[in-house]
Amino acid sequence: MEVVRQGSTFDVCVIGSGPAGGFMAKELTEAGAKVLLLEAGAEVPPDQFAAHRWPYEFPLRGTHAERQGKFYPDAIAKHIAFKGDAVSVDRIRVLGGRSTHWNAVCLRFAEDDFREGSIHGLEPDWPLTYQEIAPLYSYVERIIGLVGTREHLAALPDGEFYGPPPKMRCAETLTRKAGRALGIPVIPVRKAMLHRRSAPGRLPCHFCGHCMQGCEVGAIFTSTNTLLPLARATGNLTLRTNALVRRIETNTEGRATGVTFVDRTTREDHTVSARIVVVSCGAVESPRLLLNSAATRFPNGLANSSDLVGRYLTGHAIAQFHGYVKPLMGHPPRNEDGATDHAIIPRFRAIKAGRGYVGGFGAQLQYASRDYPHHARHLPGYGAAFKKRVRELQPALMQMGGYAKVLARRENRVTVDPAQQDQHSIPIPRVDFTWCDNDRALWTDMRATLEEIYHVTGTELLIRDEQPTGFASHETGTCRMGTDPKASVLNPFCQSHDIPNLFVVDGSAFVTFPEKNPTLTIMALAVRAARYITEARRTGDL
Ligand SMILES: Cc1cc2nc3c(=O)[nH]c(=O)nc-3n(C[C@H](O)[C@H](O)[C@H](O)COP(=O)(O)OP(=O)(O)OC[C@H]3O[C@@H](n4cnc5c(N)ncnc54)[C@H](O)[C@@H]3O)c2cc1C
Ligand code: SF4
Repeated sequence: MEVVRQGSTFDVCVIGSGPAGGFMAKELTEAGAKVLLLEAGAEVPPDQFAAHRWPYEFPLRGTHAERQGKFYPDAIAKHIAFKGDAVSVDRIRVLGGRSTHWNAVCLRFAEDDFREGSIHGLEPDWPLTYQEIAPLYSYVERIIGLVGTREHLAALPDGEFYGPPPKMRCAETLTRKAGRALGIPVIPVRKAMLHRRSAPGRLPCHFCGHCMQGCEVGAIFTSTNTLLPLARATGNLTLRTNALVRRIETNTEGRATGVTFVDRTTREDHTVSARIVVVSCGAVESPRLLLNSAATRFPNGLANSSDLVGRYLTGHAIAQFHGYVKPLMGHPPRNEDGATDHAIIPRFRAIKAGRGYVGGFGAQLQYASRDYPHHARHLPGYGAAFKKRVRELQPALMQMGGYAKVLARRENRVTVDPAQQDQHSIPIPRVDFTWCDNDRALWTDMRATLEEIYHVTGTELLIRDEQPTGFASHETGTCRMGTDPKASVLNPFCQSHDIPNLFVVDGSAFVTFPEKNPTLTIMALAVRAARYITEARRTGDL
């Protein structure tokens, strides 16, 4: 923990140290700003990750709470309320944010993904184009280290790949063959991982398959192994962990003046001053913080004159399949651990109406670790015959997760509930969400289409989702950007329309959300916002 001198005023206070806050801190400190980075979670070094521990090493055999508990302290999952259809949201509390145990699949949004309003008319266009964001994608891709192959697809633009991804394994190769027969492309994954090369603080992948439990060697890009060291090296960063921001302070002139945070270890409150405040807490916690920062001048919360803070919550509708590819059943055991998914299905259908819905879907293949038969608990039987069956089936396991677009709708929202507070007396977030007809129609088509691949590969299905689930840790849209202050919270540079020295830089800023994973775009928006702040500081506008 670093000491924050009382009375000092920072140029910028960044709240949250995930990929968004990490890029903000790196870019701003490199441009000479004195940055205070406040992170609610603790630092959990890689040697404390539980990725390589076997189930029998845990009292409860390695539940999510046992493996990931350090990333989600204070029973945070309980301090939230939900209404409507069953969905889950991800609110991590650790230095590095969710990049600490993410899967690092990085997909550029396509040209059409920024102009869905012009295409189908149900949502607005983004106030920026693919051409504007493309150089920022390139810049981010070079820093994070991205593998991939050039495919020349309009729906999934190629990135700046430093090398090829790991080869597809048997089940992925058979799926690609089946996809060809159905006209469905199956291409190599695009992932921010080091493969046959290293970087400062990062070693090459050893294909253990535990990417989503935390990569101990740093082959997977994280904010902590790449961005924060670069920010620290400037000498301009002050980092404080366990600092949960309770509210953003504002003055009577309508400007942000700093923040008040509670130290989670001592439970003491501290107030610090900053000329600019950047909120990078994720699409649930960012609106929560803005709404909890209401003041006399801003009775409905900060940046909320449009009443849009928290609205237009969206994410991905998921359909999961587990099955056994018959030609691979009974094969001798072989090492197929890999780096989780080595293949993806990019969107191959137009986002226009025509199949009874608008939007598209894609999929990831073999996304869970392969060294342990997670599927065995779904099989009937026991004893020696059961074990023999599990062994026979393990080489044939084929997992697929489909990700479908969800329409951004006003009524799907995050609010705060002053009547319910967490252990620090901070009102908890409440998520109101329902699927609409379009979401369900798209999801149903996605499930039927992906299931077809299983039929063609001759796969025995073990698990198939019967209802859409959301959001795969891909929440977005709760402080949307735009050019009209009445119809948006932020301008195209993630700056609040209402409070000029307040920025919200994370998935909250998304206007619409296609079927692609969000984080590459979140990081590109962060670089864009940081460059805007740097220029505004230079000209004296901020
Ligand atoms: C298992 C898993 C797999 C994933 N796989 C992928 C993938 O393959 N591709 C992809 O694009 N995305 C993936 N994601 C999602 C991705 O991790 C997130 O999109 C990304 O981390 C968002 O970055 P962020 O900086 O906006 O927010 P976060 O990473 O959530 O960081 C927000 C930070 O803010 C802190 N914070 C919150 N509130 C406060 C407060 N009041 N005061 C101080 N600090 C606060 C939190 O502690 C946290 O560290 C995955 C996520 C998970 C969990
Ligand atoms: S498979 Fe590679 S990238 Fe994934 S956790 Fe293991 S070493 Fe890291």
